[in-house]
Amino acid sequence: MKKTFDVTSGTELRCKGWRQEALLRLLENVLAVGEDPENLVVYAALGRAARDWPSHDAIVETLKTMEEDETLIVQSGKPIGVMKTHVDAPLCVMANCNIVGQWAKSENFYKWEKENLICWGGLTAGDWQYIGSQGVIQGTYEIFSIIGERHFDSNLAGRFILTAGLGGMGGAQPLAGSMANAATLCIEIDPVRIQKRIEIGFLQYQAKDLDEALAMIQKAVEEKKAISVGLCGNAAEIYPEILKRGIVPDIVTDQTSAHDLVYGYVPHTRTLEEARSLRADHKDILMKEGRESIVQHVTAMLEFQKKGAIVFDNGNLIRTHAKDGGVEDAFDIPIFTEAFLRPLFCRAIGPFRWIALSNDAEDIRKIDDFLLERFADNDRVTNWIRLARENVPFEGLPARIAWIGHGERTELALAVNEMVKSGHLSGPVAFTRDHLDAGGMAHPNIMTEKMKDGSDAIADWPLLNAMMSCSSRADLVAIHSGGGGYAGYMTSAGITVVADGTDAAAQRLENSITNDTALGVMRYADAGYEESYDEIEKKNIKRIAL
Ligand code: NAD
Repeated sequence: MKKTFDVTSGTELRCKGWRQEALLRLLENVLAVGEDPENLVVYAALGRAARDWPSHDAIVETLKTMEEDETLIVQSGKPIGVMKTHVDAPLCVMANCNIVGQWAKSENFYKWEKENLICWGGLTAGDWQYIGSQGVIQGTYEIFSIIGERHFDSNLAGRFILTAGLGGMGGAQPLAGSMANAATLCIEIDPVRIQKRIEIGFLQYQAKDLDEALAMIQKAVEEKKAISVGLCGNAAEIYPEILKRGIVPDIVTDQTSAHDLVYGYVPHTRTLEEARSLRADHKDILMKEGRESIVQHVTAMLEFQKKGAIVFDNGNLIRTHAKDGGVEDAFDIPIFTEAFLRPLFCRAIGPFRWIALSNDAEDIRKIDDFLLERFADNDRVTNWIRLARENVPFEGLPARIAWIGHGERTELALAVNEMVKSGHLSGPVAFTRDHLDAGGMAHPNIMTEKMKDGSDAIADWPLLNAMMSCSSRADLVAIHSGGGGYAGYMTSAGITVVADGTDAAAQRLENSITNDTALGVMRYADAGYEESYDEIEKKNIKRIAL
């Protein structure tokens, strides 16, 4: 019988407290909005919610029966045990996919995954923080807006964005492009993904072929109208074809799962079905052909750049594979973090999220109202909340993301906790953030590329972050490292805290959220960024400066 993946509504508890219930609902939610829940895959080709179904079921059973003064331990998606701790300790700690340095290679990962020793949690899959494509939408929107400000008189109306990948995260691109008023063309090899994005309202149209797609884009550009068009095809073939026709988009990027040459990226030499059938026993073929295909794909991106397009890497290691394949100048394409978002991260302004655990969308709208009033003088926040409210459909449990920083996040979380306490909201709310956040990640080809002090690959920061989150009484704390194609490329930390309206929750929220962002600001200050010094001074963060 086919499994169904639903979220739970209302306030009836199946666990012994709201904190446990919250984690259970978040686990259900990542599957409900995930890409391939039957296989526990949430997003990014292989990012799983749990190691396997027995592990999943044991986690569910444990969350239902554990006491509030106990801690569940999860190792790479498998529950290991429950220990007596205390009511202020995290309810759940996780270490997902951490491999000792010299062994952290994708080949070892695939072998150990097959032997059921490990699984990859992505960033927000294994620790049940994923909220659907919405999770990256503001980041993508901010990037497009910053490009607009820098290069197109603050207006992307009449501008053409070319990108690829309509998966769990990439699926946010067409909607973010439309919200920035651009005409966006997304190439995607899997027709099912195109259909899914249309159904959930993130993509408007599917074109039958490249001629039709380009005609739709050209018309929208001429009329300065926002449009999003999906085209089924392989980006490694279609990018060069667009180039051959002499068309140069204004902005070019890519969000195929290029990081994983086996389970993610489909080489142009194979159909989707052929690629899938080679995954189990012919990884070497897929890795070789995938790299060759990426060489073609990135060469076209570099050509677009030479012809004047604004080209950037959207965080999928595509340049890394291209360079390994011989494209010496692949890193002439900048990474989005360093090129556009770092000044925000220096102030710990990053992708903060909250999720209405009772499944009542009205709760999110009430929190929107609070933000619009409280941040009335902050255009970035109010502009985003208004746009998101109007344009971003909810998937699974209603949730919102907003890029806010140190102090602001804490203030919001405490105000929401009060709203839960007073009954203004219909149920508790979970707070979390992407791992790709100031204090949460070391990822030298994505988050921490070209740090001012050269500390790109130093992974102490996310580890300190996780330890501080435990000491600060967060409800769930996770340390993740890269799996699949990301093996050996990154380490990150995740945190979830539940606002259940109690005084104890207020303390947990205050400590964990404040310390999380404070460490983020300190990390960038330590690397020598002026914006962080300024933030430290303004917000009275107790940094020891040597
Ligand atoms: P996903 O696996 O859910 O989707 C990837 C999509 O790419 C799939 O739909 C797949 O069919 C398509 N695809 C693969 N090869 C293709 C090709 N050659 N041509 C056209 N389409 C192709 O992955 P996702 O969650 O959407 O993530 C995409 C990438 O973005 C990953 O590498 C992920 O790690 C990265 N990522 C970046 C950020 C960020 O903040 N920028 C955040 C999350 C994930």
